[in-house]
Amino acid sequence: MSKLVSTRDPERQPISYSDALLEGLAPDGGLYVPNEYPQLSHEDLTNLSGQHYTEIFTFVKSLFTDDIPRGVIARIAEESFSTDNFPATVSGNVVPVTEIADNFYIQELSLGPTAAFKDMALQPLAREMDYVLEKRGLHLDLLGATSGDTGSAAEAAFKSLGRLSLFMLSPEEGMSSFQKAQMGSLSGGNIFNISIDGRFDDCQDLVKEVKGLPEFNNLGAVNSINWGRIVSQIPYYVSGYLQAVEKIGDQVDFVVPTGNFGNIFAGYAARKMGLPIRRLVAATNENSVIADVINMGSYRQRPARVTSSPSMDISKASNFERLVFDLFEGDAEKTKSYMEEFEKKSIVQFEDHGLKRQVLTNDYGFDSGSSNHFLRLEAIRWAYKKSGRLIDPHTADAVATYLDSEEPDIPTVCLSTALPVKFEATIKEALGFIPKREERFEKLSDQTGGFTQMDKNGSHLQSFIRKNRLAK
Ligand SMILES: *Cc1c(COP(=O)(O)O)cnc(C)c1O
Repeated sequence: MSKLVSTRDPERQPISYSDALLEGLAPDGGLYVPNEYPQLSHEDLTNLSGQHYTEIFTFVKSLFTDDIPRGVIARIAEESFSTDNFPATVSGNVVPVTEIADNFYIQELSLGPTAAFKDMALQPLAREMDYVLEKRGLHLDLLGATSGDTGSAAEAAFKSLGRLSLFMLSPEEGMSSFQKAQMGSLSGGNIFNISIDGRFDDCQDLVKEVKGLPEFNNLGAVNSINWGRIVSQIPYYVSGYLQAVEKIGDQVDFVVPTGNFGNIFAGYAARKMGLPIRRLVAATNENSVIADVINMGSYRQRPARVTSSPSMDISKASNFERLVFDLFEGDAEKTKSYMEEFEKKSIVQFEDHGLKRQVLTNDYGFDSGSSNHFLRLEAIRWAYKKSGRLIDPHTADAVATYLDSEEPDIPTVCLSTALPVKFEATIKEALGFIPKREERFEKLSDQTGGFTQMDKNGSHLQSFIRKNRLAK
């Protein structure tokens, strides 16, 4: 069974799934990756075809969880993807694939409690953490930053879990009013919303600063640097594949709205496991860090701009390191020197580290495109006109990338990462009307408050956490 190693550890000291789950980032600053990828056979895929998502999830996830029994994973899957959590599913399919144009499919991943695909991973992640903590008799405090969907998805998942508390920083500007209302409504008990007078980058810097202190280095992580989150995203690629192909063995392309490179890395992992994916297309918004490294081999950090697809407003892509590790064939020294150069100079070139500029497109099956506000609105209009389907601005970035490329000869599955109801203003701008709210979201707009205001000050944050944390 696979174990986890840090991308920066030349000794490749393996740890268990549960340890990586609680740790988040490795102590040497690297990210955890499996020391081997389990394989999905043709027969496995045949068996999984037509099965409910909980079965697919349990099968795939169990291949990675060396120290959590399969029965526990099955229980967690049933709770996470229950009808209570996914009330709006069509005939029980929690990740439905729909053809909206010839050979072009949208896979909906946002039917969960907070209407964004982050629920797919955070719902199981919270329950797994709770299980491990209970087994070990421990408590864990988590500190994270969000520019949108991670906040509410994590809070909905961790709410009321007695062994965990969550401190979530968010910037005053950038989030939609729906997102703010949603987070605010989840405040209280073990959930602490902290609104920072600044931008998302400031929030991330604060997290980094505080976690860097010995007193706080045992705070856990809920962002996609946590390996547990990535593994929980592999099963929907398997399901999406099985729904889109005519027969098992056929190839598909996936187009993935990309920010921190977590979602698309899960697709890459699925392909490494043998899922017949041809191209993985990373679609970015104006913050095109990933598109640039894929096309030109130049990884460059720059300040994130606030856009109308805010959950993809990133200045660097944390999970990219996991792919870099593979580009260097698992050589931790090389990964480390590449990442350290990036951390020092905010820019690093493949060519300076012995890699070809276009290794990702030529040898690793990646493609990319970037969108902008205008193209995003056009994509929303296109999808609506073509099929009556309302898509959210992040999904629209992916659709825009698809529209900009050549007609595919094989099925293309575009991942839908949020529901349009979360981004009313942009939908209104594109189509002239506001999407209808499901009953469960009707009351949200009246909601204000639920945030503790704070300036960009590490010591204020420290004392707040000190006062409220569970694990003293
Ligand atoms: C988080 C998020 C993304 C980006 O996912 P990554 O794993 O960071 O690449 C895209 N769309 C939405 C709606 C999101 O919330």
